[in-house]
Amino acid sequence: MFEGLSDRLSGILSGLTRRGALTEADVTAAMREVRRALLEADVALEVVRGFTDRVKEKAVGAVVLKSVTPGQMVVKIVNDELVAMLGTDAETVDLNAPAPVPILMVGLQGSGKTTTTAKIARRLSDREKRKVLLASLDTRRPAAMEQLAVLAKQVGVESLPIIAGQSAVQIAKRAMDAARLGGFDVVMLDTAGRTTVDEGLMAEAAEVKAATRPHEVLLVADALTGQDAVNTARAFDERLGVTGIVLTRMDGDSRGGAALSMRAVTGKPIKLVGVGEKVDALEEFHPARVANRILGMGDIVSLVEKAAETIDHEQALRTAEKMRKGKFDLEDLSMQLAQMEKMGGIGGLMGMLPGMGAIKKQVEGANLDEKMFKRQRAIISSMTPQERKNPDLLKNSRKKRIAAGSGVDVSEINKLLKMHRTMADMMKAMGQGKRGIGQALGSM
Ligand code: GDP
Ligand code: MG
Repeated sequence: MFEGLSDRLSGILSGLTRRGALTEADVTAAMREVRRALLEADVALEVVRGFTDRVKEKAVGAVVLKSVTPGQMVVKIVNDELVAMLGTDAETVDLNAPAPVPILMVGLQGSGKTTTTAKIARRLSDREKRKVLLASLDTRRPAAMEQLAVLAKQVGVESLPIIAGQSAVQIAKRAMDAARLGGFDVVMLDTAGRTTVDEGLMAEAAEVKAATRPHEVLLVADALTGQDAVNTARAFDERLGVTGIVLTRMDGDSRGGAALSMRAVTGKPIKLVGVGEKVDALEEFHPARVANRILGMGDIVSLVEKAAETIDHEQALRTAEKMRKGKFDLEDLSMQLAQMEKMGGIGGLMGMLPGMGAIKKQVEGANLDEKMFKRQRAIISSMTPQERKNPDLLKNSRKKRIAAGSGVDVSEINKLLKMHRTMADMMKAMGQGKRGIGQALGSM
């Protein structure tokens, strides 16, 4: 089914053979397939909608790289947005609080709380040399307390001695006291779970939270949850203020859609991933990997990335050469604008060029934003190739034609031409004086 998506995408977009920008119609057609792929990966419906809307906004008007098909370009844009939404790399369990640091583990029954508690304890003890105490607050199933004690022994950390008849809150308080007395760094509180979110479960966990003020409240959730993931995550987060998510059973068939759903609904980071039943089967969360799993088109993504690198480099060399010769035309400016857009604005690009401070100020003063880049590129694309090479051809009648073609005022065209002239003059001056700028661009 992964291959199916890219086939369908290239089918839909094969009509667009010219090199150029993605149109609204192209992107709308592609989004229908992307929506289907995300639903197949078990991303919740409400999250899929928001996602495709955002991608659409970014994709319409995006330049299709040379040697890449429009379909491939859309895949890359979808992938990048997925990665961005999934969060940053290397979020980890935060122990930055006075010891003993309480960590509360919550989630539905069978989600993997007890196993994950032991996995995290192992990691904190082995890697970070923390002294960890485990306590089971699962008063409903005596076997659950035993299970945690056995796991604690297995990973080489201590567990709170079991005393029958205590409530969850009593056990939690006893654990905190024991940790203080015993000089522990971390206390992990493993709560009982129910098969569905219910008030009794939430009330008990909320009571434990109030009594222990945990530094982390980790929601343990099964990656195979599918469409229910959003409801579970939302319920736990609203009631208990989740600080992070651990996604279990990522070793299974799950495509990882739950990761996107939970992250989108709670805004909380996915901190770790469970990849098996064994106590060492715990990994860091890598957004790019999960995005690839959800979309299943890693090959296309790296192909587009390679194409982008090649083109950036070729273009930079060509532009540098032209700058040195003082032949910086509007075609080059258009490419520069596209680059600037890609690099997150004027600061990004100008910051890399020595001696560009003056222009940077000028364009910043002109309130230069992404929309303006797009508009300016639209103006340039309404010009003939001759006009782009030789802006002096642009007298009033031509300007009027271009203004009509790109839907702007003639004054905007004048502004653009002025900016181009300033840049070209400056580059010429620098090209004759120092050689720094050409080299800087060449190695960009
Ligand atoms: P709890 O009820 O939330 O405490 O869940 P448990 O920790 O008892 O786990 C329930 C079952 O899921 C056990 O059989 C675990 O071995 C299994 N399990 C937990 N995490 C993972 C995981 O990441 N991958 C796999 N395959 N199984 C897991
Ligand atoms: Mg358990």
